[in-house]
Formats: sequence, C-alpha cells, structure tokens
Amino acid sequence: MIAVFDGHNDVLTSGDPELIAGGRPGGHLDLPRMRAGGLRGAIFAVFAPSEGFGWEPVPRADGVLEIARSPEVPLGTAAAYATRAAGRLFALERAGAVRIARVIEDLDEALGGGPPAAVLHLEGAEAIDPQLESLELWYAAGLRSLGPVWSRSNAFGHGVPFAFPSSPDTGPGLTDAGRALVRRCAEIGIAVDLSHLNEAGFWDVARAEPGPLIASHSAAHALCRASRNLTDGQLDAIGASGGLVGIVFACSFLREDFAEDPDTPLSLIVRHAAYVAERIGVEHVAFGSDFDGTTIPAELGDAAGMPKLLAALGEAGFGSREIEAIAWGNWRRVLSAWWR
Ligand SMILES: [Zn+2]
Repeated sequence: MIAVFDGHNDVLTSGDPELIAGGRPGGHLDLPRMRAGGLRGAIFAVFAPSEGFGWEPVPRADGVLEIARSPEVPLGTAAAYATRAAGRLFALERAGAVRIARVIEDLDEALGGGPPAAVLHLEGAEAIDPQLESLELWYAAGLRSLGPVWSRSNAFGHGVPFAFPSSPDTGPGLTDAGRALVRRCAEIGIAVDLSHLNEAGFWDVARAEPGPLIASHSAAHALCRASRNLTDGQLDAIGASGGLVGIVFACSFLREDFAEDPDTPLSLIVRHAAYVAERIGVEHVAFGSDFDGTTIPAELGDAAGMPKLLAALGEAGFGSREIEAIAWGNWRRVLSAWWR
C-alpha cells in the first residue's frame, strides 16, 4: 500500500479524541480510516472559529459570490481555544493513536508501522501574541507548522476572503508583526503555510525567502477562479522556491462553478494535480485534503478513499515514483527543509 502524507485536516475542531482514535460515525477522518487509506502522516490544524460566521455564499451586486467576512478573534479567545484543541492531539498521542512529529525522522519512523505521524499546525496565528513570546511555548509543545492568517485579518496580516470569481489580490499583506513571525518561524524551524493569505501577503513571504513556499490546501486558479486558489504566478514562485502545493479536495475550490456539490468527480482533484505538475513539476505537487473542514467529492468519501485517488493518478498517466512523491516524498522534502 502506498503511504500517504496529507497536508491538512480539521478533525481537531470537532473531534473527541476517543472517537478519533477508535472510529466515529460521519466525518472524514479517524484512525481506522487513516489505516484503511494508507495515511501514515498528516498535518492536524488547530483553528479557532469566528463567532457567528456563516458559510453561505451571497451574490454581490456585481454577481461575484462572496462568503461574509469573518470577524477577528481576540488573542485571549483564540489562545484558550487553541490550547484545548491542541490538547486533543496530545491526548491522541498519549493513547498511542498518533505520534507528534517534531523532527523529520518521526515521519520516516511512521512508515515503519508505528502510529501515524501527526504534525501540529496553527491555522491562523491568533493564539500567538504579536511579541511572539508564546511562540516558544508552542514550539516546545510540538508546533511545526503555522499559517499566519486564516481567511480573516489578525495582528499578522490579512487572510483572503472567500469569493468567486475573484483574484486572490484582495488587500494589504503582512503587518510588521507578520513579517517578524515569518522570520522567527524560519529561524526556529516552524513551516510557514500560505494557503489562507491574500496575494500581497503571499508575496511578502516569498520576498523574505524563509524556506520552500508551502500552500498546504489550495488548488489552481486557472481551473477554478476562487480567491483561495493560486494564480499561475504564485504557482511559479512556489516551484522556484522548491516548495509545494497540497491539492485541496474541497469541491468548491476544484469546480469551475464554485458549487459546494459532493457530486464532484474525483478526477477533478487529478486535473488540478496534473495542471500544477505540468506548470511547475511533479515534485511540487502533494495532498492537502481539508478532511473534516469542507465538502469533498462523495466519490472519494473520506480518508479511507485515498487508494482510489492514487489509482486515478495512475490512470491519468502519473508513474509510480511520481505518485509516491505526490503521496509522501514531496511533503517530506519540504518539511525537512523547514525543520532543519
Ligand atoms: Zn483552511
């Protein structure tokens, strides 16, 4: 079975650790389904939701579909939430269900049959104080990946709001605190994730050259003109930096029409993977499912469906070494560059 490393899930937002470890009804991911799908490693996001945020897209006067902008989350609220959600991952490790990855060898070991490697990720850095003092505590606990913003503003920058059709160029980029955060992450070995940044913020990070650029759960803007997707110019920068795109499985970011329709073919994930591979090379393509954070193609179903996706990549002409790189090797290479 081909080992898979997946770059983004939101199971900690909803999940009871006992049910994640033992199996749970519904949702996309738990340990039994990780085993069935060959998932030997994954990035587990800690995400503090905005109060009263609704997902329903509303047409603007100009016809652009827009999901209402999320209110900011104060530091205290986010820190309290994030420590609880991260606690769920530590509870999973205590129960022997996962091993939290702190060095790249932890990923290698997960291939040997131990518990899957779990990378602790902050999706939006609201829980970190702008002076970055609490970043040390999070690093010591095991934080190895961080997105400065979710799709809202915070002390570090401005996330890209969800809109279609829309460019990701939606406003100003990183603040001074955001630039300092990216620099500090590069110094201590926390991978920086660009998936929810707007375009100005993306270029702010790219110019700082902190490490190989990562968009952990995004797709190609050329195939779906959602603000959350990556333009060809952004893809080129990711390729030139040696980074990667974790292709997201979210139906609305894959489809030409932005519909959140589970009746979306699995082949559309393959199309985005092929587009990115053709443009910047297969060594920059990986997976970033967004399991338990979005609507994914019913044909894939959940984490147990990964072998179907790997088979579809094969049918589309990817060779077995290329599939192994997409499924595991590319994430390993890029994380090891950040964690050095
Ligand atoms: Zn996300």
